[in-house]
Amino acid sequence: MELYNPSQLKKVIESFGFSFSKSLGQNFLIDKNVLDKIVSASGVSENSCALEVGPGAGVLTRELAVASKSVVAVEIDKSLMPLLDYTLDEFDNVSVVNEDILKIDLQKLIAQNFGNDDVHVVANLPYYITTPIIMKFLEENTGVKSLTVMVQKEVADRMVASPGGKDYGALSLAVQFYTAPKIVVKAEPHCFMPQPKVASVVVHLEVQEKPTAEVKNKEQMFAIIKSAFGQRRKTLLNALSKSPYINIGKDRVLAALSELGFDPNIRGERLSLSDFAKLSDYLEEEK
Ligand code: SAM
Repeated sequence: MELYNPSQLKKVIESFGFSFSKSLGQNFLIDKNVLDKIVSASGVSENSCALEVGPGAGVLTRELAVASKSVVAVEIDKSLMPLLDYTLDEFDNVSVVNEDILKIDLQKLIAQNFGNDDVHVVANLPYYITTPIIMKFLEENTGVKSLTVMVQKEVADRMVASPGGKDYGALSLAVQFYTAPKIVVKAEPHCFMPQPKVASVVVHLEVQEKPTAEVKNKEQMFAIIKSAFGQRRKTLLNALSKSPYINIGKDRVLAALSELGFDPNIRGERLSLSDFAKLSDYLEEEK
């Protein structure tokens, strides 16, 4: 079975009476080259396992079943269950869970299915919930080794952005706090059925053993970051002192900026992750 072959995929889909749901972000991959690049970048091997989000018709799941020890695929769409039974029938190392990935207890799912094996998240993500899915894996102490995910090109650009550029923001800092992100390959709309309106990119996020920056109060640092980029045209001083997310008076922010050697008119987009960590630690000590 070559599910990445558009005529074969069409045949399977039609024989199960399946119709694509736009609201579930269903754009199935039909490009073998991109598929191979996802699997080889993901780090799965015969000794490690894959957790897939949104298997769709199972095109990527089948490749992961061949390349890894075992696969668990979480799919929200009940109407895909009989189709997946058929396309994954030949594999005895794959299980499909019919759940919403955002509602599932990831720690439990991983412990029950993978024990102490290394786990790699691999997915052609539903674009309407890209960021919540990635942040759930990173923030919930899931222990996954990496995430290799297809996302909209704009989102990939933000994940890998450095200070100063237009793409740099809260997502760049959150992803770079936990992982080392790398672009793997670009996928044009014709690589999918049906074609999405936007270009896509596969990113590999290698989870770091320790977060990239040391900070005393992670929640406070991210509240500062959210404030800084929520109003990115403002100076950091104004954005922080008028923030709905934190309560720090203008005088304290001004003192912190001066103590840390930042221009009082600096904007948040100029600060690196370690700058935000220093600022947060300084404001923490001041409390
Ligand atoms: N992996 C398949 C492929 O590459 O051809 C399908 C990818 S498609 C872009 C995204 C998949 O995620 C769809 O099958 C969709 O039904 C599923 N999905 C959407 N929202 C989900 C959720 N909250 N939890 C789990 N799966 C979801």
